[in-house]
Amino acid sequence: DTHNPPIKIPKLYELTNRNIWHIIITVIDITIFFATDSIRINVLETEKNMAAVKHSKQRQSIKEYLMNTKEHPTADMVYTQVRKFYPNISLGTVYRNLNFLVDQGEAIRLNCGDGSERYDGTTSPHYHLVCSGCGRVFDLKMSPLDHINTLAAAGFDGTIEGHTVLFHGHCPECSKSSKLQPES
Ligand code: ZN
Ligand code: MN
Repeated sequence: DTHNPPIKIPKLYELTNRNIWHIIITVIDITIFFATDSIRINVLETEKNMAAVKHSKQRQSIKEYLMNTKEHPTADMVYTQVRKFYPNISLGTVYRNLNFLVDQGEAIRLNCGDGSERYDGTTSPHYHLVCSGCGRVFDLKMSPLDHINTLAAAGFDGTIEGHTVLFHGHCPECSKSSKLQPES
């Protein structure tokens, strides 16, 4: 007679009703922890993306304004303009965007001799005139003065790489009004 005694499995952890609930709650807890963590990450990512989109939209708006104006605006003028679309934008952000556009070659910074810096969305080489009457800056339709580099190099032992030319005079409007007034 082969009598096999029943195998005794040692009960390491008795699954009572209470313990089962404890396990279930722990699993739910862990799931919620990771879920909220990924939600938190997603919210952060979304906020970061939204900020990036907002910033690139602001920069695009500054770039478009520069490309569509003949004003050669100062940073303050750009700020006044862009604030119509982005009322919360700061002057610092406008400066940062202008610097970025200049660094990327998407805008030109003009030194107009009076200490003011102006910005130009027309990046192809061209010359400017500053009106002594109204202070506005105008594009001049003229052929490039590249030969003055050769002239400069002729009398200089170093190397000439470029030149800066700024014309002074009176714009058509100021010329007209100064002609109307008697000469003093
Ligand atoms: Zn003028
Ligand atoms: Mn220009």
